[in-house]
Amino acid sequence: MSKTDFTELKELLSTPKKIAIVSHKSPDGDAIGSSLGLYHYLTGKEHDVEVVMPNDYPMFLKWMSGTDKVVIHEGNEKQAEALINGSDVLFCLDFNTPNRAFGLEEVIQRSDNVKVMIDHHPQPDGFVDFMLSDTSACSTAELVHRFTAMMGDKIPNKESAECLYCGIMTDSGSFRFPSTTAETHRIVADLLDLGVKNDEVYNLVNSSSSEHRLRLLGYCIDDKLEVFSKYQTAFISLSMEEKKRFHFQSGDTEGTVNYPLSIQGVSFSAIFIEAEDIVKISFRSIGDFDVNQFARDNFEGGGHRNAAGGKSDLSLQETIEKFVGLLPKYADKLK
Ligand code: 5GP
Ligand code: MN
Repeated sequence: MSKTDFTELKELLSTPKKIAIVSHKSPDGDAIGSSLGLYHYLTGKEHDVEVVMPNDYPMFLKWMSGTDKVVIHEGNEKQAEALINGSDVLFCLDFNTPNRAFGLEEVIQRSDNVKVMIDHHPQPDGFVDFMLSDTSACSTAELVHRFTAMMGDKIPNKESAECLYCGIMTDSGSFRFPSTTAETHRIVADLLDLGVKNDEVYNLVNSSSSEHRLRLLGYCIDDKLEVFSKYQTAFISLSMEEKKRFHFQSGDTEGTVNYPLSIQGVSFSAIFIEAEDIVKISFRSIGDFDVNQFARDNFEGGGHRNAAGGKSDLSLQETIEKFVGLLPKYADKLK
């Protein structure tokens, strides 16, 4: 059983430790923002801190302070695994089941360290010693702020605050999702007091697209959008050939899945992206339709009620056919 009382952890962290921080595959703004926000806090407490990610992340997240310290497991397997194995304390951020840290799940589970989870996804696995899990939090970055308060501390500097702000901003859809609360805004106020410039962070994340990326978005919406009004559903798909045509870079389709939800009457949206060996899928919904459950039940995935992901080993076309074939089964929930 994971402990939710952090008294012993606070005691453990009262002297310098070797610490590793790890987050999930295809790290997003919250994965990187929460990890580097925590990195700056722990470094300030005299710990020796390393940050490991399963694979690389998009350029629009590489401006955060500490990004040069991040070790990417894919391509640097030995180094990354040694950092995790050599740590006294391992923080697992923004995921709650080892297989989300794709490629690192065994190292994480077998490593002999004190494991701490800070996360906001539903149905956490009890693979850690200490767990700060709150599914009502808009982001893991928000929970890192809470964690520092539980340790009796404040966010130490602008660098840490900026990373946490990025995590909160991206995971809350720039403060528009229902998970954004008064507490979110109180934390954000604290981060702004530390010197974060909200307009700068927004532009660093959202105003650094390539021309190809914007044209790909236009193509997705103009040519690739399919709407099934009967089931309040719309989806977009992209093949490897189409990705190549638009010089696809990791992160280029980030947010694309949200656009179909802007159509009146559409409450369920999906995007299917063909990769080398699998089709990666993102699901989004507005209102009660539970895409976490849908992804778990049909596409080996998970996530939150209104934002989830999954995968398929079928071809792109077969995956789409499977998805369309499932819709009648959910007809009573999609009306
Ligand atoms: P995205 O669609 O932006 O990749 O992910 C949306 C949410 O679903 C995120 O909270 C992410 O962690 C979660 N998610 C995405 N893909 C998967 C997956 O394959 N498995 C699980 N369990 N969660 C996923
Ligand atoms: Mn998150």
